[in-house]
Amino acid sequence: MTKVFFCEPTDQVFTKLRVYESCDGDMPPCPLFPGQYSRHDASSDRVAVITIPAEEVIPASGSTGEYAGDERWPTACGCGHVFGSGANRSVHHQRLVRRTDTGEAFEGYQALPVGAVWNAFWMVEGRRGDWVGPDGRSLVCRLPDGSVWMIDSRASNCTMPDDDVHKCWVRHGRPEDGDLHVDKAGHTCAAGAGSIATPTWHGFLHHGQLTVC
Ligand SMILES: [Zn+2]
Ligand SMILES: [Zn+2]
Ligand SMILES: [Zn+2]
Repeated sequence: MTKVFFCEPTDQVFTKLRVYESCDGDMPPCPLFPGQYSRHDASSDRVAVITIPAEEVIPASGSTGEYAGDERWPTACGCGHVFGSGANRSVHHQRLVRRTDTGEAFEGYQALPVGAVWNAFWMVEGRRGDWVGPDGRSLVCRLPDGSVWMIDSRASNCTMPDDDVHKCWVRHGRPEDGDLHVDKAGHTCAAGAGSIATPTWHGFLHHGQLTVC
């Protein structure tokens, strides 16, 4: 079992300089970033820390801008590959996100570990009822296989696809309180039994714990 815990954004955003180069054509895949879309990828240490209110969306990664020519751009991937002149260079912003129980901080939502639950508030704006829970939040959970579960989204096998009011997964409790629980008790459809299945993990979120079934 894995205990779930809540994470919330701080007002701190880090800026890093990222370089990546796709492994297509004759270039063999990078051992550090394998797979179909293999790439060589490296980021600098923090080059700036800026304050952006936690509820605001951070700027998208942009072109080199004011950092063009900066000596802190990485010159090689961690595997040793030296970036060519055609490599992509972008200024990358990362929100500092903090566990509310221990205070431990992580660079970006992607870095949150297994068991983390957060509010993808940027999914709420402009949406209809689907993807938003009864508390106005869109909670996401990092599963033991590393994938993410959008708890307030629609199950792929939803039996009421035209209905935006019901929830395919019904939430009870709050991750902040350690008692988040997801089941089919409430206004729901006939899809599943309240579990979440990915290609590599299947289980429940019951009484604040992720449990294999
Ligand atoms: Zn590499
Ligand atoms: Zn449904
Ligand atoms: Zn199962």
